[in-house]
Amino acid sequence: MERGWPLEQYEAVTEAVAHLYVKALKDLPPDVRAALEAARSRESSGVGRTILQTIERNIAIADEQSLLICQDTGTPVYFVEVGEESGCNPIRLERAIREGTERATREHPLRSSVVSPISRQNRQTNTGYRVPVIHWEFVAGSPNVEILVIPKGSGSENMSYFRMLLPADGVAGVKRFVVESVVGSGGNPCPPVIVGVGLGGSADLCMLLAKKAIARPCGSINPDPEVAGLEQELLEAINQSGLGPMGLGGATTALAVHVEHAATHISQNPVAVNIQCWAARRGRLTIGPEGEMAIGY
Ligand code: SF4
Repeated sequence: MERGWPLEQYEAVTEAVAHLYVKALKDLPPDVRAALEAARSRESSGVGRTILQTIERNIAIADEQSLLICQDTGTPVYFVEVGEESGCNPIRLERAIREGTERATREHPLRSSVVSPISRQNRQTNTGYRVPVIHWEFVAGSPNVEILVIPKGSGSENMSYFRMLLPADGVAGVKRFVVESVVGSGGNPCPPVIVGVGLGGSADLCMLLAKKAIARPCGSINPDPEVAGLEQELLEAINQSGLGPMGLGGATTALAVHVEHAATHISQNPVAVNIQCWAARRGRLTIGPEGEMAIGY
């Protein structure tokens, strides 16, 4: 593909994105399933254990009957990596992602959760002005394109937080803010949750980092040992709260805490929290150099 992808490739990607979106809504990634199973096996609260068993039954029924894991199709959020050597035109790819999302919504059909923030008009496509949300990265030397979809449920997205702490508040202030945000959310984000924390950057980058954090496989560890230590400390502090599954008491409020960080301004200490519910759905489409496609997580 020396001169870039042929037009038929974008049509194939549109179809694949439609399939990817529906699959992500039905098939929970194995890492999330394993984390839920581990939480159920160590849960000492009777109510907590019953809730986790009910969640597992929910997932099993979705598998057996090819149903959506949750009625909330969420806001479609995509993280796209375009390889330098892929031959992909990002403008055409953006159109393919939008059309694939719309096609899945019309043809499955799916509940459309996306409305205008002013008129509240719903196009019934799960798309709208600037939605789907698409975050782009360009990868030097790579021949591949990666499309990761996160259908982001509203119960958890409503529990999103940002604070410009003072540098003097330090990491202690960050920890306090994260724990208070998660515990203060109670049962609203459908715990047990994955907690995404953004640290540093500017206000906008900090929020994006928190979203990137929840897009990681559940329980994955930040390669920076300092950040990994913070993830572990926060996980323990949140679970010591005893808030538990659905906020009704128990050992597991969070399945994992993921922290993503960036450098920041000398006079700033920004922190963001984005929470992902137990239905931590995600799907990945990988497009190789010959146009071959593979769907995973
Ligand atoms: S927060 Fe998640 S589990 Fe709860 S209703 Fe929304 S999508 Fe479903």
